[in-house]
Amino acid sequence: MNVTWTVTPVGYQRIAKRCPACNIKRDFTPSGAIRVNSQKKLLDIWSIYKCTHCDYTWNISLFSRLHVSKIKPELYYRLMMNDADTVQHFSCDIAMLKRNNAELSGRPDCRIQERWSLCLTRGNQVTVHIRIPRPFQISLLSILQKQLMLSAGEIRRRIASGQIRGVTLKMLKSRKLKDLEYSFKMSKETLYARRRIILTHREKQTS
Ligand SMILES: [Zn+2]
Repeated sequence: MNVTWTVTPVGYQRIAKRCPACNIKRDFTPSGAIRVNSQKKLLDIWSIYKCTHCDYTWNISLFSRLHVSKIKPELYYRLMMNDADTVQHFSCDIAMLKRNNAELSGRPDCRIQERWSLCLTRGNQVTVHIRIPRPFQISLLSILQKQLMLSAGEIRRRIASGQIRGVTLKMLKSRKLKDLEYSFKMSKETLYARRRIILTHREKQTS
């Protein structure tokens, strides 16, 4: 049996910076506005961030000196329109934030979409695939906690007892996810421990 979890960010990745108006370090989030400057067919595009305590703004560069022919017209249009999904999309772009030397603060919430594929093999094992189409600040551990509704301690115990296999605690805790897909195995009991999903009928048909 295979389960695929596709994980995408919800909300903004906050960034921390000393706010000159507040005079201390504050969190900044996108204001929702995009600024586009065009000069001789070269584009400079910023997402305007705001201090969460005052209105002090900070420009985060999305594209610098980009020739207008190099940007997809659809993306250019969305940026010109201050499209909310596009602002959100870039706000979780870790590589872009790194280029801006932005210090990450906390992490965005995530949405997990679950897909099942049942196969004819018997047994107690479920192969779990976690897909992260676009990397953002998240650990596999927090995905497991959210989706299995188990505490970090319970997940640790299940790794120790072999109920979750093919992944180490170190890998689960890392927030520097490189591969876009991770696969490991867990017992059905682990998958169902806290969740109320009844698949008995379909399982009888297929196993
Ligand atoms: Zn401020």
